[in-house]
Amino acid sequence: MSEIVEALTAAQTARAARRAGEILRAGGLVGLPTETVYGLAADATNDRAVARVFEAKGRPAFNPLIAHVRDLDMAKAHAVFSPLAERLARAFWPGPLTLVLPRRADSGVSLLATAGLDTIALRAPAHPAARAAIEAADRPLAAPSANPSGAVSPTTAAHVAEGLGDRADLILDGGPCPVGIESTIVKVEGEDLVLLRPGGVARAAIEAVAGRPLRRAAGAVEAPGMLASHYAPAARLRLDVETPRADEAFLAFGAPPGDHPHTFLLSEAGDAVEAAANLFAMLRAADALCREKALKGIAVAPIPASGLGEAINDRLARAAAPREGSGIGD
Ligand code: AMP
Ligand code: MG
Repeated sequence: MSEIVEALTAAQTARAARRAGEILRAGGLVGLPTETVYGLAADATNDRAVARVFEAKGRPAFNPLIAHVRDLDMAKAHAVFSPLAERLARAFWPGPLTLVLPRRADSGVSLLATAGLDTIALRAPAHPAARAAIEAADRPLAAPSANPSGAVSPTTAAHVAEGLGDRADLILDGGPCPVGIESTIVKVEGEDLVLLRPGGVARAAIEAVAGRPLRRAAGAVEAPGMLASHYAPAARLRLDVETPRADEAFLAFGAPPGDHPHTFLLSEAGDAVEAAANLFAMLRAADALCREKALKGIAVAPIPASGLGEAINDRLARAAAPREGSGIGD
């Protein structure tokens, strides 16, 4: 099993980041917390290190990865920022917004990390441990979610260790992820904004800053992580369930039905932000309960689509999708 070091206090974070920085600069892999989910980080400018990420996750295809940067300055070395892109970065960074922008010809980021595209996905994370690791490595970090391909994203260091065994050279434990759901991905095409993946920043907040609507990616898969089956627990999911059966685990949103024995409260107050933070950990716990008690599956309460509800419903739909087919998850 990979070594886990705590990165909770400022002193622990500084110490852990120094070790992480050395490992990353040497081409190693580090599991680290971000405010969205835990990432499996590698030096984004090192082809071999990036290849090890794909290998560790068992990814069936080389999907492009997000390069995590310290700030707008570091990002500008790798992408061309239009005034609109810069306005979004200034409004939401550091934070859970990923921008897909034209890649600069002189960006040193591995072509494997960007899957040979002429665009690059960039994000400046807010979590202190992720920021300290980028600072220590002094280069962008490619960091997809730290789970085997297609599995539920990890929101604790223990989830990372469970999923990846000893495939990370080090895991930083920064506690549970505060947002708990992946970043919102927006592609900036001139004056046009395309929502490639709903996530930790709500659509309305982005539209308010941009002063224009986000177009939803149509037809062709623009972000491979958008393919149907993904985030899949072993148990079957039933969505929009008001009254769960006795032989199901239940993810409740709002006041739960009084006497259901296997209930997990995503948010008793009906708060989508709280529900997003709990989503993946409770999917795992419900999945484990199904195994332990031989339950028939997981029923999930209806969740309104406003705010982070859009991202939660997106992830639930993928978790409920039929499993065979593409097999391309991340
Ligand atoms: P993850 O790192 O697991 O959060 O997933 C990263 C997501 O970003 C995947 O859905 C990728 O396909 C998407 N992505 C990364 N780079 C690009 C790009 N240049 N264009 C479109 N989507 C991208
Ligand atoms: Mg993922």
